[in-house]
Amino acid sequence: MRSSPNTKQPIVLPFLGCMGDPHSVPGVGDNDLMATNPGAISLPPRYSDKAILAARPPKQPVDPWRPYAYLVEAEHSAQGRIEDVATVFLTNKECPFRCLMCDLWAHTTDTTVPPGAIPAQIDYALANLPPARHIKLYNSGNFFDTSAIPPGDYAAIAHRVNAFKTVIVENHPKLCTEACLDFRDLLVGTLEVALGLETAHPVVLDRLNKRMTLDDYTRAVTFLRRHAIDVRSFILLKPPYLTEEEGLDWAIRSLKVAFDAGVQCCAIVPTRGGNGIMEHLKNEGHFAPPSLSSLEEVLEAGLALKQGRVFVDLWDVENLYTCPDCGPVRGERLRQMNLTQRYLPPVSCTCSS
Ligand code: SF4
Ligand SMILES: [Zn+2]
Repeated sequence: MRSSPNTKQPIVLPFLGCMGDPHSVPGVGDNDLMATNPGAISLPPRYSDKAILAARPPKQPVDPWRPYAYLVEAEHSAQGRIEDVATVFLTNKECPFRCLMCDLWAHTTDTTVPPGAIPAQIDYALANLPPARHIKLYNSGNFFDTSAIPPGDYAAIAHRVNAFKTVIVENHPKLCTEACLDFRDLLVGTLEVALGLETAHPVVLDRLNKRMTLDDYTRAVTFLRRHAIDVRSFILLKPPYLTEEEGLDWAIRSLKVAFDAGVQCCAIVPTRGGNGIMEHLKNEGHFAPPSLSSLEEVLEAGLALKQGRVFVDLWDVENLYTCPDCGPVRGERLRQMNLTQRYLPPVSCTCSS
């Protein structure tokens, strides 16, 4: 799962910077959570689609003919340059998966949008955005879910984004099929697919209700890369059921799993509440957001791997600040590290955070 735009903020931000066979990860079995959490006396609870849906607050009103947000921000490109990337948050039918931590459904419709609506949304966003070199078409679900993005619109979509060097779409590993190749063939630029690995922790991945195994993930990465499609992955920092230390450790392990599978870029997303079931988990003691310090450590460790680009999601980083003196400075350090993909010295402060 990726970050979600804060729609309370101005929507144009120029120039700112989705279970596995346990044996897919050597040494990790179904009791691994217990092994890393000796105090645990049972496996973490499993929540059904029904329970996850029942906990939701209401959706936000959306217009099928308008993207619900759009922005331009700078990103360190695959070529090593800092380049502007437009992101269009497409309004479309809600994702059929019910991941435990997902809040992306909040800006979706209940039914498939009309033919032509997605191209119209792209037109609207591009008319209101400054130029950019790359574009993300994020649809709060899976681009190759035919109920979300009508395949009859693929050609019209491609036509609108053919000025961009890279076209990045999000997709579930189980939906990486020939349709990806059909869309790739319509593009002038490079197609990049963003896959949510979320976590390589097999038990937690299972409890995230993503209905995906680690083998599904690696199979999808292999398929895409074999067909000249670039891949980035979303990794959660401190998903439910993990302590701070375990959350950091598994984020780093997940980075390695993703890079070893063949992805070229990873984005670390601090796990957040806000979708109803996460608040329940918090009350039950199964979830708490990660610390700023863990976010710093995972970026440092990810960059040190030197296996590809690593970003940390900073869209709501202010929520992780605990000190008014060092919080913003530390946030800026992370922003600069994202942009340069280089280690910067840590910020010192009299506080202990
Ligand atoms: S697969 Fe669907 S439910 Fe799961 S994180 Fe992605 S958008 Fe959310
Ligand atoms: Zn401080």
